[in-house]
This record gives sequence, C-alpha cells and structure tokens, in this order.
Amino acid sequence: MEFNTKLLHGNAVKNYADGATVPPISQTSAFSYETAEKLEKVFNNKAPGYAYTRIGNPTVDAFERRVCELEGGKGAVACASGMSAVTLSLLNILSAGDEIIAGSGLFGGTIDLFSDLKQFGITTRFVSKVTVEEIEPLINEHTKAVFGEVISNPSLDVIDIRSVADFVHSKGIPLIMDSTTATPYAVRPFEHGADIVVHSSSKYINGGGNSISGIIVDSGNFQWDVSRYNGFEKYKVYGSFAYLAKLRNGIWRNMGGCLSPTNAFLNLVGLETLGLRMERICSNSYELAQALGRLDGVSVHYPGLPDSPYKELVDRQLNGLGGGIITIQVGSKERAYQLLNSLKYALNATNIGDLRTLVIHPASTIYTHSTKEQKEAAGVQEDTIRISVGIEDVQDLIDDFTQAVESL
Ligand SMILES: *Cc1c(COP(=O)(O)O)cnc(C)c1O
Repeated sequence: MEFNTKLLHGNAVKNYADGATVPPISQTSAFSYETAEKLEKVFNNKAPGYAYTRIGNPTVDAFERRVCELEGGKGAVACASGMSAVTLSLLNILSAGDEIIAGSGLFGGTIDLFSDLKQFGITTRFVSKVTVEEIEPLINEHTKAVFGEVISNPSLDVIDIRSVADFVHSKGIPLIMDSTTATPYAVRPFEHGADIVVHSSSKYINGGGNSISGIIVDSGNFQWDVSRYNGFEKYKVYGSFAYLAKLRNGIWRNMGGCLSPTNAFLNLVGLETLGLRMERICSNSYELAQALGRLDGVSVHYPGLPDSPYKELVDRQLNGLGGGIITIQVGSKERAYQLLNSLKYALNATNIGDLRTLVIHPASTIYTHSTKEQKEAAGVQEDTIRISVGIEDVQDLIDDFTQAVESL
C-alpha cells in the first residue's frame, strides 16, 4: 500500500464500533465493568480494556495505532503536546547524572526544556549540526541519548539519519528523532536507523491548526542495556516492547500528560489528508522559495533548493521533499517587521503545519527566552522571518510576498 492509500485503508484503520468509518469520540473519563473481577483484570493488564482515559482511551488508541503504522513502529504513545512527547521520550530513559547530545538548531521549546532539565541533574551538550564528526568528541559514559530534528525548526538543517544512527549504535546510545517538520510522508526515520520518533502532532499531522498534541513512536529495535539504563531491568521481560511498557506504566501515565479524546479525533481527521497536504505544501514551498530568491534584499534558506547544502540529502533521504518551512533574512529587524505587517494572506502567528501560511519573527517570540548565542546557534538572526507555507494557490503567495518585499 502506498502512503495515501494506507492513510485510508491501513491495518490501523479498521474495526470501529458499529462499522463507523471514522473512529467515534470516546469522550469519557472512566470505563465501567459489570464485575470487580473484570476491572481488576483490566487494571493489571490481564485483560484488554480501558479503565481511565489518562491511561488509555479508544479514540486516543486509534490515533496511536495509525501514526505507529505510518512510521512503521512497534507502538506509539500519544501525549498532550509535542513538548510533552519530547520530554517523556527522554525522561523514560534518563536519570540524574546523564547527558544528552542535541543539535543546537532545535525548536525553541526544546532548547528551553533542556535548560529546565539541568536542575534535575540532566545535562545537554549541544552540537551545531548533528553529525558524526560533531557528536563523537562529546560522547562519554554518561551519554544516554542523541536527540535531533530531522529538518530542524527553524535552522532547517537536515540530519543524515543513517550515518548518525550507525555511529551512535556502535556506542550503545539510541537516536531520538523529532520528525515533526519532515512527517512520515517525507521520511520514516526507523528505515534509516532511528530508534525513537517524536512528533508535535499539533503541526502537520493535525494539519488544520485546531489542537495541541504529541506522539512518541518506538521502533522496538534498540537494545536497552539494563546496567546502563536505570529501571529497564523490570521491563526486560517485555523484549522489544520494553521502552513502551516502561513509558506507559511509568513516567507517561504518572506525569499525566495524556491526549484528550476530542483532540485525538481531530488529529485522526487531519491525518487522513497528510499526504495530499504535504504534497501541496512542499511544492508551494519550493516555488515560493525560488520566487523569494529572485527578490532583491532577501536571502532564502530552504533545504529543497538546488543550491542548498542539503539538496543531496533531501533527495536521498526525504524523497526530494524539502518540507514546508522557509526562512528568509531581510537585513534588519525593522525591515522584518515591516514585511510581516505588509503581508495580506500570511498570518503572523506562532505555529507551523497549518493549512494557512503563517509567518513569525522568531528572535522576538519563540526564542525570546534564549541568549544571543543560543539564537545564533539556532539560526535565528534579528532579521530572520520563518514562513510556514500553507496550501493556498501558490501564485497568490508569491504575489503577496513580492508586494511586501517591494514595499520595504
Ligand atoms: C512545535 C514543535 C514542538 C512542540 O510541540 P507542541 O505541540 O507545541 O508542544 C516540538 N518540536 C518541533 C520541531 C516543533 O515544531
């Protein structure tokens, strides 16, 4: 089955109550059972069933199964937000004293999270690009995870997943990929050796910009050394489900960042058009990036452009798709603001992966908590504008950006 067919007819898209073609919203907190014995079995994982929506819910389950199938994973755990997914994917394997190696061009919230983790004894060492050359010197006996974004938001660096995965595996370390901006339409990171994939499904997976959510997908391939990874001893019996079992029975359920059934439903509806939307978004982005490149006083970054240093990797690893984000630099913050204020269609808003084209000045918003050095390392300059390209007719977008640039 090809991608779009799988979205509608995959194994995970079956068996809803009463033959419903779309999963019903199980908007309930608890699930009742006729006998105490039955509830005991459900509680103790001895019988299938749901007890309480923080721990499991049919609509959330349907969402998890579908994303898992698209990524080709072993299982998936949905979370209240992308940040919740990023946090829990790491806390499931880390303890005080451990270290993460991460790209410095990450989403602003993730950079802030890594600062927050310091007070729990977890240190992050940043590399300017997630490559074998940069990671190697930072690895030590405390390194427990390498984290990066397949296409980083907003620095737009692309990770060569295969080369990094092979290297970190030789050191007994898992590779966690935030694949929010790439989406499973462009790449399935497990096929290239990644161990765990996280998404802010608030973005392209939901697609309509109508709810916040996140998801963690595990490949089941990483061999957790129980002498290095605290708490894994107990979950050894689960074999390739060890990571997922530990997550579900531990930090995920106890921190309480579960996804609401209604938001899971909105994601399921959005997910079905992921392929169509990405096709349009990527082609719009390519054309808009080229058009912006022809304007005076604008420098354009887009990994899918023929002169991008990532073009070869985009072709080899991302099916030739450069994603839906473009960044431009326009010379100064004043010019950036003037441009943002002159756009007719693109909305000034902090989100990506919406149907609508969105623009933002990252330095004064998403990266407002970051130091000057952190901003620069993340590819955020004072004159940078991030564009999340939507599905509008591309000529309208080109005309809109052209008039805004020409008005400067
Ligand atoms: C938005 C985003 C997040 C955080 O997701 P939320 O759903 O906003 O919590 C994490 N990673 C990337 C790459 C993002 O774009």
